[in-house]
Amino acid sequence: MMIIELNQRQETILQIVKDNGPITGEQIAEKLSLTRATLRPDLAILSMAGFLDARPRVGYFYTGKTGAQLLTERVKKLTVKQYQSVPVVVNESASVYDAICTIYLEDVGTLFVINGDSHLVGVLSRKDLLRASMGKQNLESVPVSIIMTRMPNITMCHEGDLLFEAANKLINKQIDGLPVVRDVEINGNIKYEVIGRITKTNMTKALVQIALDDFH
Ligand code: ADP
Repeated sequence: MMIIELNQRQETILQIVKDNGPITGEQIAEKLSLTRATLRPDLAILSMAGFLDARPRVGYFYTGKTGAQLLTERVKKLTVKQYQSVPVVVNESASVYDAICTIYLEDVGTLFVINGDSHLVGVLSRKDLLRASMGKQNLESVPVSIIMTRMPNITMCHEGDLLFEAANKLINKQIDGLPVVRDVEINGNIKYEVIGRITKTNMTKALVQIALDDFH
């Protein structure tokens, strides 16, 4: 299966390089009776996609990698930063009622809970809020800090993490989302600032972009 659709000319160039590489752009152009300038975009695509490699003064050579290998390499390079969404946070003193309003208004599945210093202290899921609503308490007087999943039991990720590693955490922990955090050191202790959100929806979007070959 060819993951990146090559056009007829690119296929021909690939074959020429396979048979004759290393070969210069000039020489490829000569074989095709085209100018070097006409070939430039095709050579750029083949190099960017990883089918060809170029060495200065030597020319182009075939990398020998299959479409599937190249796809795997590209998928493994995707980072959280490329796909993360804006996080939605509530303060730990907010009521369960406020959190329910926020989760509806912001149209998210997970809220991150922060303290007065804006550091991550907990996570609230839809079911956490549903469970709390089933009791007899007055939802306006119960703070979210009572019902949230709290630190240090929060699964997090960083902007530079690989997307597939974040996906793996979602699967292993059976959760819908992760806070993307930045570490801050306060008096020798590490605290976390929430700078993003990565969810199953982001993973689905990544999958669609990969299928449409619209990812980098
Ligand atoms: P839901 O409970 O609505 O199905 P999740 O599967 O995401 O949503 O959450 C399941 C439980 O895991 C909830 O109690 C929630 O507080 C907790 N949880 C959600 N995300 C995280 C996370 N990133 N780290 C730790 N716990 C989490």
